[in-house]
Amino acid sequence: MSRKVVLASGNRGKLRELGAMLESIGIEVVPQSEFDVPDIEETGLTFVENAILKARNACEHTGLPAIADDSGIEVDALNGQPGIYSARYSGQGDQANNEKLVAELADVPPEQRTARYRAALVYMRHAADPAPIIAEGVWEGLVISEPRGENGFGYDPYFLIPELGKTGAELDSEQKNRISHRAQALNKLVDALRQQG
Ligand code: IMP
Repeated sequence: MSRKVVLASGNRGKLRELGAMLESIGIEVVPQSEFDVPDIEETGLTFVENAILKARNACEHTGLPAIADDSGIEVDALNGQPGIYSARYSGQGDQANNEKLVAELADVPPEQRTARYRAALVYMRHAADPAPIIAEGVWEGLVISEPRGENGFGYDPYFLIPELGKTGAELDSEQKNRISHRAQALNKLVDALRQQG
């Protein structure tokens, strides 16, 4: 028998990715839109806090266990910015976010443009769960000034993975979904859920 878990996100790509992996351990993932869960403000100051806020909100409105994620890019030369503000960096969407990032790094030499994507995934059994399962993933790269590749989303055309000599947008979705920050966090979450039984 499969147990139902609400996904605190309306993103179809995330639903597909999470749904496929969790199905294998008997979990059916249902998007929170099916329950008319209202979005909440992400007032946390860390990825984990924001993921917990979203998962708790989904639990509260559905009475079911919930999974939520939060992610972003952390750039060393900018003291970790945009970080949790990655989606909201420019206030004007992905293209403007990238333009702002490239402008901020204009005077920073290539070797000092180290950055990483981070993802936090959280599983809560109920809204008052005092011990959520927390799984995190990190993906290291460098921010470049000229976009490369057509795949992915967000900062991917400017996120170079040095070992591969490719940006996130030059990987196909299968490759990216094997190695990305979100993939790493998801693998850890699945392991933890499997252990918990
Ligand atoms: P959220 O976790 O869906 O709120 O997204 C956070 C933001 O971080 C996205 O809007 C992107 O700007 C950025 N981000 C997170 N993961 C990725 C990725 O895999 N590629 C590109 N950008 C990402």
